[in-house]
Amino acid sequence: MSKKKLTYKELQEKLTQAEEAIEALRSGRVDVILGENCPLVIKAKHFEEESKKLNAAIEQTSDWVLITDRDGTIEYVNKAVERISEYGREELIGKNPRIFKSGKHNREFYKNLWDTICSGNTFNAILINRKKTGDLFELHYTITPLKDEEGQIHHFIATAKDLTEQKILKEQIEYISKYDILTGLYNRKYFAHEIDELAEEAQKQTVKFAVVVVDIDRFTALNDTFGFEAGDEILKRAGRRIVNSICAECKVARFEADKYGILLSDIENPEDIILVLEKIRSNFNNSFKIDNEDVFLSLSMGISIFPENGNSAENLIKNAEVALSKAKSVRLNNYQFFEEEINIKTSEFVHMQRHLFHALEKNEFIMHYQPYFDCQTRELKGLEALIRWNSPKFGLVLPGMFIPFLEETGMILEVGKWIIRTVCKQIKTWINKGYEKNIVPVYINLSSTQFAQKNLMDFINETIEQTGIKPEYLGFEITESTFIEDIENTKAVLESFKQKGISVNIDDFGTGYSSLSSLWKLPFNNLKIDCSFIKELTSNPDNTFIVITIISLAHNLNIKTIAEGVENELQWQTLRILKCDMVQGYYFSKPLSADEIERFLKS
Ligand code: C2E
Ligand code: MG
Ligand code: MG
Repeated sequence: MSKKKLTYKELQEKLTQAEEAIEALRSGRVDVILGENCPLVIKAKHFEEESKKLNAAIEQTSDWVLITDRDGTIEYVNKAVERISEYGREELIGKNPRIFKSGKHNREFYKNLWDTICSGNTFNAILINRKKTGDLFELHYTITPLKDEEGQIHHFIATAKDLTEQKILKEQIEYISKYDILTGLYNRKYFAHEIDELAEEAQKQTVKFAVVVVDIDRFTALNDTFGFEAGDEILKRAGRRIVNSICAECKVARFEADKYGILLSDIENPEDIILVLEKIRSNFNNSFKIDNEDVFLSLSMGISIFPENGNSAENLIKNAEVALSKAKSVRLNNYQFFEEEINIKTSEFVHMQRHLFHALEKNEFIMHYQPYFDCQTRELKGLEALIRWNSPKFGLVLPGMFIPFLEETGMILEVGKWIIRTVCKQIKTWINKGYEKNIVPVYINLSSTQFAQKNLMDFINETIEQTGIKPEYLGFEITESTFIEDIENTKAVLESFKQKGISVNIDDFGTGYSSLSSLWKLPFNNLKIDCSFIKELTSNPDNTFIVITIISLAHNLNIKTIAEGVENELQWQTLRILKCDMVQGYYFSKPLSADEIERFLKS
């Protein structure tokens, strides 16, 4: 083999290579140097290791790494790109990064990006991209141009941090700082924060609120019997039952173990609080099924009221806890107010409610009837059925004292059926007594819970049939709050009343939020103007004006008006002049027993 003669330049190069090779050997960077005529192959063990390390680092970093050629064609993506964008590597290689385009940045933005990197500078920005799934993600993006020795850009490398993940992490941290992990309720710290916020607001508006600390009776024994897992399940479900018993604006927290906190906002008096607590208790009357066994839980509760019992979370919770210990020391399944005076004052009310549970079965409810008349002729036009509780212990109790309780506990449904049955039977009795030719519709007040019942119409039809009265003898009164949320359903129910020939009055008009124009589509017969307007009809020009407006609007819509709570001659005469259609009130007649009503039916 003839040897090729080297030029001077080639020789020079070989020498330099040899020098470099010797240096590489000496420094330990390489193991072997291969032959003179082969290209200078250096088996660079260390280099290989270094590059492997580097590769693995880029592959495994949680940051986004994407390399494109100078035209923007993707040549490499690391695992983070696949994870964040949810595209597979093979779907991205050879494509352009505009595959991630979200439409959230304008043309200007991209122009600036390309101008920056093509001029050899690094581009930095928050970039909103779109995943394969269509979801958006946010990156803190850096694009660096890679240049050769001559400064020519041959690639771009984009590195980025996923801000979405950081956000989720932040959200998780925030969640833990606010909520109890087990139950998903607020934790004690955040609950206290909410109380302090409310206290600050309430101070300005002089409203009241209450803090209730709740403890599950004998929880430790339950835990011992059923184990911790079942115990945790009970804690979760108990929390849910509390939440389901209170209004949406009220807040519930789990403090620790089996202790909960309830923030009852916007209460007017201790009786309001009792109604809520009774509702919670009645929701705990049903058993909790654990391991196929029925477990019954009872609660002890302590209550403090803002501002009387403290104006900070610390004081209110502390005092509610004092009240809770007091409750536990009296007996389990019991609640106590921090202030002894309130306990004494409300005990009669509480006592009354305990008896109310049995009033229906003991047949202690009775119906009274208040007539209403034609405003001009004073002719009898209708009767309103009003319930009373004839308690052997408390005397004749008016509905304002017990209807809210019946509603809170759901007892209103059974009592409501009793009312409809009793009124229908009463109409039948009057007919049997020979008053049919003078009979007028008897209007029954329907609570929203009753009105929302799916089988209400079936029950009414059945009762009408069983008692054998004409549907025209029956009417119902509903208030605006009954239907304000679901006007479509109301329309359907009222339509079925109308078809049947049953009349409907809108009660207490003017106290809710609905306007006459939103009501006129509903098929009802009469509008009862709330007694609060009638009370000051002749002394407050604003009220006179409101009543004039209601009457004239109603007449334009072909609706009749009834004024409630007419107490004197002047009010009546004014209503006559204003052309109100009907009147009801103590001036004409108080609510009377069924027997007493007969004198109106005779004439
Ligand atoms: P409401 O339907 O607006 O009934 C009118 C209330 O005003 C009745 O009070 C009646 O006695 C009273 N009232 C009538 N005329 C006058 C007057 O001239 N002056 C004054 N100051 N008051 C007058 P009551 O019987 O205490 O009923 C209060 C509320 O309880 C009723 O308001 C109604 O919302 C509810 N309620 C009564 N009976 C029933 C019932 O059977 N079922 C349901 N769900 N609610 C009922
Ligand atoms: Mg009424
Ligand atoms: Mg009314």
